[in-house]
Amino acid sequence: MKRALNYLNPIAQLGKRHYSFIFPFLVMATMCIIFEVVFAITHDTQAMGIFLIFVSLALILYLSFRDGIKGGIIASLITVLYYIYFIFARNYTDHQKTSGIETTVILGVLYLSIAGIIGWLKQTIDVLIDRETDEKKRLLTIIEQLPVGVLITDSKGALVESNRQLEKILGTKMPVGFVMGRDTLPGVLIDGKEIAPSRSPLATALLKGKAVIAKDMLYKRPEGKEVFLRVNSAPIHNRKGQIIAAASIISDITESKEGEKRKDDFINMASHELKTPITSLRLYIDILLKQMNKKDEKTYKIGKSIAYQADRIQELVSDLLDVSRLQTGKLSFAKEEFRLDQLVEQTVGELQGITKDQKIVINIKGATKVSADRFRIYQVITNLITNAVKYSPEGTIIIVSVEKQKDSALVSVKDEGRGIAKDQQKKIFERLYQITSDSSQQASGLGMGLYISREIIRKHKGTIWVESEKGKGSTFYFTLPLFKK
Ligand code: ADP
Repeated sequence: MKRALNYLNPIAQLGKRHYSFIFPFLVMATMCIIFEVVFAITHDTQAMGIFLIFVSLALILYLSFRDGIKGGIIASLITVLYYIYFIFARNYTDHQKTSGIETTVILGVLYLSIAGIIGWLKQTIDVLIDRETDEKKRLLTIIEQLPVGVLITDSKGALVESNRQLEKILGTKMPVGFVMGRDTLPGVLIDGKEIAPSRSPLATALLKGKAVIAKDMLYKRPEGKEVFLRVNSAPIHNRKGQIIAAASIISDITESKEGEKRKDDFINMASHELKTPITSLRLYIDILLKQMNKKDEKTYKIGKSIAYQADRIQELVSDLLDVSRLQTGKLSFAKEEFRLDQLVEQTVGELQGITKDQKIVINIKGATKVSADRFRIYQVITNLITNAVKYSPEGTIIIVSVEKQKDSALVSVKDEGRGIAKDQQKKIFERLYQITSDSSQQASGLGMGLYISREIIRKHKGTIWVESEKGKGSTFYFTLPLFKK
């Protein structure tokens, strides 16, 4: 029954590709038979003529819209043929026949024009609907196949689309009737707290029109397993710039989080395990050196080399410990007032000896007092200068400057070395990140120095950044708030 109704429904026929001539033929033939029967009973030529014109016009309109130009033309032709049959099947006078044919020709032209216009309109709509349907199907297939969860809402936050991967990640279907910004999805936590519905990434995209990038959340599946989710959300605008929808891409990052945790645990364990033996080793080397006969120059030199290498290991272990403490929030900071310019001067003095024939120039513009952890700031300056030395060729100049700004002190370390490409400039401050592309320039290190420096400066409410161009040297900057009484 439903299929039969669909067959009669012109809208349901839109987009259908196979065309059958039978339906318009049957419709028009039925009309002719009904008309013949009614005429046989009534014999009222005039009333029946008007009735026939209206009924056939209505049917031609319907068939043109339903089946396009072809349907309209078939209907029009059958109607015209029937008119001719009607005129010649009765005993009309020649005059009546001539005027009947004239009327039939006029009506035929009218019907065909109507069939043409309506059919053309229908076919245009058909093409547009086809195109939209195809596009939608394509998009939905892509969304369904994506390896990440996808959630799309309308402008009011009501769920429009979600894919199978999302169900897999959430361990459940999205609740029916769920409205973003109004309902809370149970089990979703950001920083350990359940989030207000209006502050979820998708709601933010929808309400504020802003994209939310890489928001990490903890999610407890209905069966109890906890997973880490990374969510990206963005509003979708129409041509007028109004928000018409919003989309979220959700990925399960539990595995990489667990990998990171294993890495943290390893750093933590390794640094603690290495600390004690290397400290004792260093002490024993000192004792040995003291007891050594300096006259045996060769052995004494070897002893000194061992001490130097042990110092390098100790520095690495100390960096590892710092990274581990930073990860666990256990790195504590002292606070004292001191002159930053003097600390910079002292550090440069100490480091003059480690250069590969580079010249370190110091440029101090005024006294700058800060309140900070002196040792940790010393660590940052040392790291920036040793990097400048490590990553620039012999004979170049390294300029270390300190200047006082409105509320802060600005320290910069400028070198004429290999420089850093734009896309790497943020990454080098990440934990254990090293630029590995040009291995010929590879220097020793584990990629911890800049990460530790950034964390130290952040903890002091300062900022650290680099300005550089590949091949043209780099300038590293950091600021610290000036001391206020
Ligand atoms: P490390 O020097 O131990 O590798 P860092 O965290 O100090 O680790 O530096 C991270 C990376 O940044 C380095 O591996 C290096 O590629 C790059 N880098 C740091 N300072 C400079 C510099 N002055 N010039 C060019 N590259 C640098």
